[in-house]
Amino acid sequence: MTPLPPPRVTATPLLGGPLPAAALHALATRGSGPVSEVRSLLTGRPAATVPHSTPADVFAAIATATDAQRVWARRPERDRRAALARLDRWIARHRTYLGELLAHGSGLCGTDTADELRAAERALRPGRRSVPPRVRELPRTRGVPHARGVPLVRELPRRRPATTVATHTDDSRPLASLLEAAVPALLDGSAVLSHVSPRAAVLAARLCAAAVAAGLPAGIWRLVIAPPGSPTAAVLDEHAETVIPPCCPAPCPGARRPGLLVVRHDARLRTAVAQAGRACFSRAGQGCTAAPIVAVHDTHHATFQRRLANLAAHLPAGGAPGARSSALSSLPGSGPCADFARFARSIAHDARLHPVLTGGHRPDLAPYVHEPVVARTAPGPGPGPLPDPALLAAIPPGPLALVVRYTHWSDVLALAHHTGRHATLITNGRSAHLATQFAGLPADDIR
Ligand SMILES: [Zn+2]
Repeated sequence: MTPLPPPRVTATPLLGGPLPAAALHALATRGSGPVSEVRSLLTGRPAATVPHSTPADVFAAIATATDAQRVWARRPERDRRAALARLDRWIARHRTYLGELLAHGSGLCGTDTADELRAAERALRPGRRSVPPRVRELPRTRGVPHARGVPLVRELPRRRPATTVATHTDDSRPLASLLEAAVPALLDGSAVLSHVSPRAAVLAARLCAAAVAAGLPAGIWRLVIAPPGSPTAAVLDEHAETVIPPCCPAPCPGARRPGLLVVRHDARLRTAVAQAGRACFSRAGQGCTAAPIVAVHDTHHATFQRRLANLAAHLPAGGAPGARSSALSSLPGSGPCADFARFARSIAHDARLHPVLTGGHRPDLAPYVHEPVVARTAPGPGPGPLPDPALLAAIPPGPLALVVRYTHWSDVLALAHHTGRHATLITNGRSAHLATQFAGLPADDIR
């Protein structure tokens, strides 16, 4: 095995110092591919340069990981668990430092950073158990539904650990999605190759360095750096022994299936408004579980809309994303911010929408922060209250609530033909029998 030469990474502005040697070793890149300049989402200034991995780097990383896996799998399970428990303690001691990395790298506000760190602790919880967990395996076709609790996993009987496991990281929850996919595999004795975007690479590399300091062998957890959907990521999936795919792959432009939140007639209004605020505005609407489409029963429509707009109007008062009290995360760069601002301005001229609260771009808080937008939809050309499906497919990700008024439950099911995999039902009754009615529709993660 030939060790990889160190890649050309600069991350001092982001880390306050150079990347540790173990972090450089975790990056599966020789630096011969393209290079990204990563700008801080908090300041807009250059924060790091990150070389991308190439397919040749992936093959080299798989070879290194396979060697390391033989050593790792022979270690007693309690040793593997102890190493991950030490990593858990490192995260607990470095919450402020990780919070800054999350603010600069992913633009997370104080509220979202706190959520992210809690999710990271939950992901590492198996390392703290005294009873060994059973081997876990995720379905190959659908990844980890995240952001609202413990990852959905299917427990299987114990079996031989995979040699190499490929995982994919979500930029809107880089720390939690990295750990949720990697920890079960590492505990199992497998080697992990995590595909991360250039934006998440520095945070991920710093975490891998901490994992090595905590006792994981160098090479057991490697990072493949490539933009989402790149050929390099496809090469990784093709050659790793097991693949844990992303929860929802990034949609093609104009083909988005946004998340849905339904406020039933028997919902408690206070709960509904609080949940809608989180579902629509947290992480600047970037997570795949974000629910910009909010279907509200006639009973609550007027009051709900007023209260949600009031909640949204007060969120910017929390300050810039780096502040602990901040409640607005940044959009991931100037392009997505401009797209969302253009959409927000277009609402006033779009016959399909009525503005309720039109927030604007707030460069005074941070360069890519946009205030929340609340609008109600006008019925489309068909029967019932269904908005134009083309409108739903084209809305850009951002802090947005499009309120759809409904009278009959069948209207919600018709709407769900055009929304995505994640749906939330706010009801005071039992939702299990309602969830079964989504069979055959795109939504299969119903809460
Ligand atoms: Zn998803």
